[in-house]
Amino acid sequence: MTKMTESALNEWLEQHKVIEQLQAAIQSNTVNPPGNEILLAERIQSILLSYGIEAKLTIASGTSTRANLIATIRGANKGKTLVFSGHMDTVPIGENVWKVDPFSGELREGKLYGRGTADMKGGLYALLYSFIKCKMENKVTSGELIFAASFGEETGCEGAQEIVAEKRLPPFDAMIIAEPTDNQLFIAHKGVLWLRIEGIGKTAHSSMPDHGINAIMALHQFMNRLKTLDLTVADHPLLSPATLVVTTINGGLKANVVPDYGAMTIDLRTLPEHSHDQIYEDIVRIANEITNNGQGAVLKVSRLLDLPGLTTDASADIVTAIQLVFRENFDQTLVGKGINYFTDGSVFQACGDGHIVILGPGKPELAHQPDEYVEIASIAKSIHLYTQTVVEYLR
Ligand SMILES: [Zn+2]
Repeated sequence: MTKMTESALNEWLEQHKVIEQLQAAIQSNTVNPPGNEILLAERIQSILLSYGIEAKLTIASGTSTRANLIATIRGANKGKTLVFSGHMDTVPIGENVWKVDPFSGELREGKLYGRGTADMKGGLYALLYSFIKCKMENKVTSGELIFAASFGEETGCEGAQEIVAEKRLPPFDAMIIAEPTDNQLFIAHKGVLWLRIEGIGKTAHSSMPDHGINAIMALHQFMNRLKTLDLTVADHPLLSPATLVVTTINGGLKANVVPDYGAMTIDLRTLPEHSHDQIYEDIVRIANEITNNGQGAVLKVSRLLDLPGLTTDASADIVTAIQLVFRENFDQTLVGKGINYFTDGSVFQACGDGHIVILGPGKPELAHQPDEYVEIASIAKSIHLYTQTVVEYLR
């Protein structure tokens, strides 16, 4: 970005009070659970309205405090559909003590502090103000640009699932998700599968174990057998191999009672090539073998979260458009990479065969951490490159 473009952009940010608005967004507590994203959805809706842009706010089913928000700018000519996507919720502030008030939106030496600054209100507002800039400066001549803000991403993309189920997004050609990537381009991420395995047995006095059925021992056998689960698929060029972690285990009543119940959860991070149904079936088969081995315990498997991985062709036109913008504006050669965390992209890929990329301000390692912050310069850079990408992609 030339010095002149940079100072013009900073002037624009100041004129539109972008940082003050982002501070107000940080002060709007959307820690999930419970989420309460309507606070932020209404705030964004009124910002958009002040620029004459109508946005549709949809209350989540069964609540009055959670909502998705979608706005569209249409060009005069037919063309491609590009979606800007971000989530409005944040993770809790955690047990560690923060140096700053996590809901103050405090600005110190060019950094804005608070829960959600990096993950991802910074990115969401960079998209929002790029969207507004595109409207004001008539950058969308062909096709359409959609701004979509979702609730409940951090607990399993519930908002995105409602958007897809209610068909609130058209089949799109490309989507940019502004999760924190430090303005690096990510074109692949892993999927996630959380399973709960419950063991059901029968209590007895532990001095007479033969009268009971030990649910915990059944889970123990299950854990040993899990080692035989084969997760190998073809290597992904951008992602590390799949992982399986036992994350919780609990059960038992007293030191002198044969336990009739125990439960554990496992977390699998998969590659886009994995079939979650196949993995689930394999695990159910292991559980059934233990159920049927004659010792009397019953193991039940249930899915807690099931989101597939994402992989976008490195030669997709949204990827090459972004690469061109980086070359022309920042003299940077950008290569698409892979990440381990999941995004709303897992869900939005069900909208069609659009290409999804992840690109946003803020350092990924600060997400979910105490003293989370985002650099103002990083947000300015994102706004510029989103806007240039719209011009390049929707021409
Ligand atoms: Zn996030």
